[in-house]
Amino acid sequence: MLSQYLKPVAGLFLCLIDANFASAQTGRFQQSVNYQMDVSMDVKTNKYTGTQLLTYTNNSPDTLDKVFYHLYYNAFQPGSMMDVRSRTIADPDRRVGDRISNLGPDEIGYMHVKSLTQNGSDVQFMEQGTILEVKLDEPILPHTSASFAMEFEGQVPVQIRRSGRDSQDGVRYSMSQWYPKMANYDEQGWHANPYIGREFYGIWGDFDVKITIDKTYTLGGTGYVQNPNEIGHGYEDEGVSVQAPAGNTLTWHFKAPMVHDFMWAADPNYQHDKIQMDNGITVHHLFVPSEETSKNWDLLKEYTPKAIEFMSEHFGQYPYKQFSVIQGGDGGMEYPMSTLVTGGRSLAGLVGVMAHELAHSWYQGVLGTNESLYPWMDEGFTSYASSLTMASIFPRENQNSNVHFGSYRGYFSLAKSGLEEPMSTHSDHYHTNRAYSSAAYSKGAVFMAQMGYIIGDEVRDRGLLRYFNTWKFKSPNVNDVVRIMEKESGIELDWYKEYWVYSTKTIDYAIGEVHPSGDQTTISLKRIGLMPMPVDVVITYKDGSKELVYLPLVIMRGEKAEEAGMPKRIMTQDWPWVNLEKTIVLDRKMETIKSIEIDPSKRLADVNEENNKVEY
Ligand SMILES: [Zn+2]
Repeated sequence: MLSQYLKPVAGLFLCLIDANFASAQTGRFQQSVNYQMDVSMDVKTNKYTGTQLLTYTNNSPDTLDKVFYHLYYNAFQPGSMMDVRSRTIADPDRRVGDRISNLGPDEIGYMHVKSLTQNGSDVQFMEQGTILEVKLDEPILPHTSASFAMEFEGQVPVQIRRSGRDSQDGVRYSMSQWYPKMANYDEQGWHANPYIGREFYGIWGDFDVKITIDKTYTLGGTGYVQNPNEIGHGYEDEGVSVQAPAGNTLTWHFKAPMVHDFMWAADPNYQHDKIQMDNGITVHHLFVPSEETSKNWDLLKEYTPKAIEFMSEHFGQYPYKQFSVIQGGDGGMEYPMSTLVTGGRSLAGLVGVMAHELAHSWYQGVLGTNESLYPWMDEGFTSYASSLTMASIFPRENQNSNVHFGSYRGYFSLAKSGLEEPMSTHSDHYHTNRAYSSAAYSKGAVFMAQMGYIIGDEVRDRGLLRYFNTWKFKSPNVNDVVRIMEKESGIELDWYKEYWVYSTKTIDYAIGEVHPSGDQTTISLKRIGLMPMPVDVVITYKDGSKELVYLPLVIMRGEKAEEAGMPKRIMTQDWPWVNLEKTIVLDRKMETIKSIEIDPSKRLADVNEENNKVEY
């Protein structure tokens, strides 16, 4: 905005325009894509060919003279980066191990681009493992679109990791990471990560996908079927009798709006159950009926809709009209509007993995954080959300009162293992799989659970909804989620981010000496751990009453409000983090005290619980 006090002198005016332009260049932007693909699968050879028309819009302020595509299936070849890494890491994923190095020519995966044009003219491209680098003759200017037309071919690998054919469950095709996919370019530049282990980052857009395959196969995955009455397989409208077209194949037509990936799965023996929810969402379950699956997949029909409802209420409205739980893959893996899970599980196991993968729809599907850089913002928040969901829809006897107990236990074990690396580590660059998974899943979930301890559970819950509604379809980073919690609470949280995300420093507070001083009692508290935190101290008296002493950090520049269900707060005193000790004086005689305890709510991730309580 131009100030009215400034005379529009020519030179000054120009310089202000420049300043404006510069600040526009430092802002966030998002690329956009529109994919049209037409593929044909040969179920005898497991090879497929396809065409892809990609309209790519450069919303960045930069001119792009290169683009990169992911060719994920090339990872499943002896000598690939995924193969070498899986054989040489200290604690290999047993699903992978040395299996890639033993694949024969008919078992490997590949994905090759046969031709590529940009706006109708051929362009040069070079395959390097799982990345295709394309040098553009015609650079893509800021705020313009380019149209890429491609022919490609692929071979579906034997199922090794996530994607592939003939899984352990016997599912024929789990088709994720199956097409040449434009790498993302954002304010941190290109993210042309080779496929080594984990995980993904995509560009939102509309997908229009036609798949021609043997007519006996039932398909499911991302996207709404456009020709249900031609296809059948349980997708047809009620009362319609499907006329199978002549020939041995069917062409399935899917459309998926505003997704950053497209998965499909196919098997000739799938049973397809359809559940219509009152809110207009259709749930599809596809599984291969057997003694191990049929009963529990039938019972699952009650839980998937319940989970969608719970999550929509607590974490933000699910934005699509469909969700599909499909037997396939090698564990549980999330995709837009769908998940692939292995089938032969106990009911608790099946509901648990469904809830976890469904919760990814919020953090991976719709918020779409870069999972390579911030895996804990996906896996951690997903674990946090699914623990709450499970406690509500599938309560267990003897459940720990802290529903995130498992995540805390996982984090404590990591912190004591000597293997911990900061959560800011790139997901492929952790030294061990253990350090990655405990940080991403457990420490990431504790980030959010412990946030409730710092700013109050209710405020954190409101913050989570605000986070979703502010950042949906925008790929938030670590700063964005912390800023939302700062705005919702009025408390500064940069220190929490610095210690919890960027360091491996741990929390340990202790109760030190307690002694009488006349009618008063002096209590000394100690900070032993290197990470400072606010401290809640609960004093229980012999008459059964309880009081809370609250010691927020000076650097919080604020206090959490009194929390429902907690003892009355009788004292608030700031604790400058540099002080290793803090003394408080209670207006009560020492002999009236029964116990003194740091954070009985157990939300503080204090690695040494033993020095947190004294009893008389
Ligand atoms: Zn997950």
